[in-house]
Amino acid sequence: MSLVVQKFGGSSVADAESIKRVAQRISLYAKARHQVVVVVSAMGDTTDDLVDLAQQITDNPPPRELDMLLTSGERISMAVLSMALNDLGVQARAYTGSQAGLITDGDHGRAHIHSVTPGRIQEAVDEGHVAIVAGFQGVSHTSKDITTLGRGGSDTTAVALAAALEADVCEIYSDVDGVFTADPRVAPAARRVPVITSEEMLEMAANGSKILMARSVEYARRYGVPLHVRSSFSGRLGTIVSDDPDRMIPVDPDVTLRTADVAGRDSADPSKEIPMDLDLNAAGGLEAPLISGVAHDSSEGKITVVEVPDAPGKAALLFDVVASTGANIDMIVQNSSTVDDTVAISLTLPEADAPKALKAIEGAQEAIGYQEVRYNDQIGKLSIVGAGMRSHPGVSATLFRCLGEAGINIDMISTSEIRISVVTEQARLADAVRVVHNAFGLDAEQTEAVVYGGTGR
Ligand code: ASP
Ligand code: MG
Repeated sequence: MSLVVQKFGGSSVADAESIKRVAQRISLYAKARHQVVVVVSAMGDTTDDLVDLAQQITDNPPPRELDMLLTSGERISMAVLSMALNDLGVQARAYTGSQAGLITDGDHGRAHIHSVTPGRIQEAVDEGHVAIVAGFQGVSHTSKDITTLGRGGSDTTAVALAAALEADVCEIYSDVDGVFTADPRVAPAARRVPVITSEEMLEMAANGSKILMARSVEYARRYGVPLHVRSSFSGRLGTIVSDDPDRMIPVDPDVTLRTADVAGRDSADPSKEIPMDLDLNAAGGLEAPLISGVAHDSSEGKITVVEVPDAPGKAALLFDVVASTGANIDMIVQNSSTVDDTVAISLTLPEADAPKALKAIEGAQEAIGYQEVRYNDQIGKLSIVGAGMRSHPGVSATLFRCLGEAGINIDMISTSEIRISVVTEQARLADAVRVVHNAFGLDAEQTEAVVYGGTGR
């Protein structure tokens, strides 16, 4: 018997029909005698609609009240999904985040998990019930107020529960068949990645891949929770995020595989539904690919501070000023000093954080002593991610060459051990993704990616 945590995203529970379909899938696991804990997102675009509603009332909704409003979305889906399961003869009970023991700090709108005490959930599954938990929400351990974990937070709810319950796997269901080598909406030749390490997945998520909330991957990495990212619209294997090739993972109500076997079996026939004559020996010399994927992000803007005096302490002051606004700085580039002993410093940050940051920098012009500050929101960031990069020289040369040949200019560059990111003009970002995907030999011969649902909102 395994304990499986299953998270269903908004597009998987968009309407009554979808909820019944999801209930069917859950019932297969329950009938195969797995213990099942389900985490649900709000139905379809509900959360966006609730945000819109709040904005029609006021420009400045109090964060506590906004959380109260937004958490109602997940409470609807948990209740109706539980009804659908009971209708199928599966005993199910729905729980709010607070009832499920998701204890957070008091930071409304982006609360962090403080502790997880899922006593009631453990009891429910021990009694043979399916426990359904409202995702994205918790309760503050100080104020006892209801909080939300930030957009996409149901992923984190699911992983946190999986860690606390020591689940065998945390399945994340959405409307695509897993993690792809690039966003299939941009690069139709993208391939499904059968297995990826948590480190690579974290870089993908942190650099624009929307399939998983980055925080949930961090959490899974810290607690060693294997993830299976897959579609609720098909029976296919998705992507296993795991660092342990020998780990046994339930991938189907009746089938358990080792992480390594998933990679092998998968290369034999990626389109195969499971369970169907699982040929575990069909692995065949799959060499670890150099690049696991290409991520892109067009949600950032670039601030450039021009003619900053080339003197100790100036950069510290600038970044103190920006940090004080709570802005989340991503890339930083400073060019070396010019003849006039000044430098230009550029930084990228989420577009939403830019107005506050710009205002603060302008306010500190005299103290910093710079000439001018510029802002550009028409930038795009492309990142290639792959653990294979560590041991292979020439990866950056290939990246820069293919962009150059396509006439795409590189504005900024940053690297980690397993990632190279470049900033380009936003209008060329989609082209850049396709060009790079092709240059690293990632293009599939036949289209693999199916996007099953969702409004892409
Ligand atoms: N419903 C919330 C959102 O749209 C949380 C989630 O879906 O994970 O962000
Ligand atoms: Mg999501």
